[in-house]
Amino acid sequence: MPDPTCACPHCNCVLGQDAVQKDGKGYCCQGCADQHAHGEPCASATGCECAKSAHG
Ligand SMILES: [Zn+2]
Ligand SMILES: [Zn+2]
Ligand SMILES: [Zn+2]
Repeated sequence: MPDPTCACPHCNCVLGQDAVQKDGKGYCCQGCADQHAHGEPCASATGCECAKSAHG
């Protein structure tokens, strides 16, 4: 069973119906799945700042 929360290191968002599966892990959004490689913000509406954390 994959963890029900996003696999992004700094993201604690619970996986929803928009979850993205990548490398056997679940991410809450495409941005997290891409590890914010292009600065995509987290799709979460809860003020998650994992995208900022990913780039210091
Ligand atoms: Zn997040
Ligand atoms: Zn996430
Ligand atoms: Zn993230």
